[in-house]
Amino acid sequence: MPGAGRVLLAGDAAGLINPLTGEGIYYALLSGRLAGEAAVESPDDPLTLYRGKLRGALGRHLRTTDVLARLAQFPGFIDAAIETAVRRKEVFDLLVEVGLGAGTVPGPLALAVGTRWLRGSLRARR
Ligand SMILES: Cc1cc2nc3c(=O)[nH]c(=O)nc-3n(C[C@H](O)[C@H](O)[C@H](O)COP(=O)(O)OP(=O)(O)OC[C@H]3O[C@@H](n4cnc5c(N)ncnc54)[C@H](O)[C@@H]3O)c2cc1C
Repeated sequence: MPGAGRVLLAGDAAGLINPLTGEGIYYALLSGRLAGEAAVESPDDPLTLYRGKLRGALGRHLRTTDVLARLAQFPGFIDAAIETAVRRKEVFDLLVEVGLGAGTVPGPLALAVGTRWLRGSLRARR
């Protein structure tokens, strides 16, 4: 039987945890589905297909959450993100998608939060 004896890891077992929020249910469901699809579509080499599907679905998102989790070490950054989200509903929705789904941060939003963070830091120094 092709692919017999191989195991594709999904969810927590694959280390799929949002580094910013600790959420993992969305990733578990998504990666489980993608693993199943890969096993059916490419029985001889499901891992290669699965990796490609995961990278396509979550690669950019996980790079984004990794950067955000590092920035979250700075208290002013989270304040700036929340202040931006309070003023703009589309930003709030986007941040929810980053925390709970597969959202990413577009350049203009990163710039808006960064500018607010910088202004807040400068104000705090005065
Ligand atoms: C306290 C807590 C709160 C959380 N809150 C949230 C939240 O609000 N939102 C969110 O998105 N995520 C949350 N998470 C993370 C989320 O629960 C996990 O990311 C998600 O459940 C991962 O799903 P999974 O299917 O990979 O693993 P699991 O849900 O852990 O499922 C694995 C299953 O495999 C079974 N199992 C293990 N070994 C064997 C074996 N040898 N044979 C047979 N079965 C086995 C286990 O009993 C378990 O039922 C939370 C986690 C914790 C601990």
